[in-house]
Parts: sequence; structure tokens; C-alpha cells
Amino acid sequence: MPELQIGVLAIQGGFEAHVRMLVGLGAAVSEVRVPADADELDGLVIPGGESTAISMGIESAGLGPAIHAHHEAGRPIFGTCAGMIVCDDAHLEMADITAKRNAFGTQLQSFEVDLGIKGIGDEPLRAVFIRAPWIKRHGANVEVLASYGGHPVAARDGNVLVCAFHPELGDDSRLHALFMAMTTGSRERAHEEAEH
Ligand code: GLN
Repeated sequence: MPELQIGVLAIQGGFEAHVRMLVGLGAAVSEVRVPADADELDGLVIPGGESTAISMGIESAGLGPAIHAHHEAGRPIFGTCAGMIVCDDAHLEMADITAKRNAFGTQLQSFEVDLGIKGIGDEPLRAVFIRAPWIKRHGANVEVLASYGGHPVAARDGNVLVCAFHPELGDDSRLHALFMAMTTGSRERAHEEAEH
């Protein structure tokens, strides 16, 4: 099979580090700015930055329907930090979660912590939180993968993976590898269905 085609939403925020990390894992990566860029992607990353700016950019570029079509086709989405907020029930409604913006407060604007995360092995991941949200509500079908200070900060709802921190910073690409494994799985399922 050809390499995975992963799009990174490149409207605002920290998309370049995601591109580098995914290229390092062997994906074919493209930047998504207009609806046609989102066609034929196996997976889509919505990066961190400023969720209001990203939401407004999605709206003004007319990207909402293309992102929803990707999601409804069962193709994975990875929302990080502001991108997690964009996936929540107050925005694009692709993960059954409600994010609380800037949840860690002014004293803890930015911090790093070694975080154990389900599904990436026993070794903790050095997680960089920057004016990070947390998940204040989630549905029963949402699997919490990591919590910090008693609040969920990484989770999976079907084919949508979200985290409150910046996994693209540093050199630990295990969460991106998990996302790529989800993406490989969904592509294989789609091929099997097409053959039957
Ligand atoms: N505080 C930002 C927001 O609410 C998120 C910060 C980030 O993505 N690092 O949109």
C-alpha cells in the first residue's frame, strides 16, 4: 500500500512541527488551507494555536463541510490543544467532549510533565502544556487515555484522538505513531469494505 496521506490544518498555530514529526514517521504530509486540500486524506491533524482564530479560519475558508466529510467517512482526526477545542461539542462536534479553555489558569500558563498515556507503552511522554485546555465533560463512549491533576487531557472517541498538550514539540513521536496506526487501521477497513 502507498504511504499514508496525512493533512495538517495550516490556518493558524503550530502546524509545522506536526508536519516534521509525521514526515519523520514516514507519512506523506500536506498542508490543508482550502476544502480541496482535505480530499483523499487518510488522516487529518488540527494543531494547537488559538481556537477562536482556527474556528474562524475554518469558517471563512469554507472548510467545515470538508472536515465533516472526512470525519463521517471514518477517517481519523487528531486534535491537539486548540485543535482539541475545535473538535469538541461547542465547535465542530466530532468528539463527544467539552473542553475548558485555558483551564490550568494563569499561574500555570505553561509547564511540562511526564505523562503516562494509555496505548503508547509504559514509558511516560514529556508533555508540554501551553495555556492548555482540559476535558471537563465527556460521553460514555470516550476513552480517557491520560489525566493530569484529576482532569482528562488525552482521549479517544472512535476515530478522533485529542490531547490538551503539544505532542509535536520534542522528539517523542509515540502519540503521532498511535494516530498513524489508527489511520492505517481505518484505511485497511475501507479497502476491505470496497472489496466486498
Ligand atoms: N489557549 C488556546 C485556546 O484556547 C490554546 C493554546 C494552545 O493551543 N497552545 O485556543
